Amino acid sequence: MLRVLEHPLASHILTHLRDRTTKPATFRTLAYQLTLMLAIDATRDLSTEEKAVETPLEGTTGRVLAHQPIVVVAILRAGVSMVQPFLDIFPDVSVGYVGLERDHVTAVARNYYCKLPPLAGRRVFVVDPMLASGGSAAQAIEVVKANGAENPRLVCIIAAPEGVAEVARRHPDTSVHVGVLDRALNARKYILPGLGDFGDRLYGT
Ligand code: URA
Repeated sequence: MLRVLEHPLASHILTHLRDRTTKPATFRTLAYQLTLMLAIDATRDLSTEEKAVETPLEGTTGRVLAHQPIVVVAILRAGVSMVQPFLDIFPDVSVGYVGLERDHVTAVARNYYCKLPPLAGRRVFVVDPMLASGGSAAQAIEVVKANGAENPRLVCIIAAPEGVAEVARRHPDTSVHVGVLDRALNARKYILPGLGDFGDRLYGT
């Protein structure tokens, strides 16, 4: 399932992220804000339970998040930028990291780093800002499933149709939450129109 964030503020932020004249400090703030919106949208079906509270005026009942720990798994390096918004809004988040690099001979991504908290029985969100060909995302989902995650979700800022199709082919059970679905990949596997290299834009490299 693909879910695209439809919100005027998301469009506003995306346009400024795309703008080549946006400086890294502003880019980081905008990426934070958009990830916060995606985190809220991708968790809209978290379970809640009833809780009685006393307002200054009377007793009432509200709903609070049921105990259901969240795990955010960032794909290195750009995915790290999407961790903080989850940490800032959810009370009970653990963080994992998966590092993948493409072998230039076999073209298969090698898992060179993997540090994961327990995943079984938790809500797992794999985060990577740019879903390009989908190879790394699909492999990271494989890694988290092999470590006990059930129905992990993928959260990205911009996706290419090729990446969405690859994740759907390899993980038909994974829902993909994106800020926008772009047109296509170019010959160098950059997303068009995209925003360029996300890591470079973040860190000014
Ligand atoms: N990664 C990026 O940072 N940008 C793209 O366009 C594709 C992958």
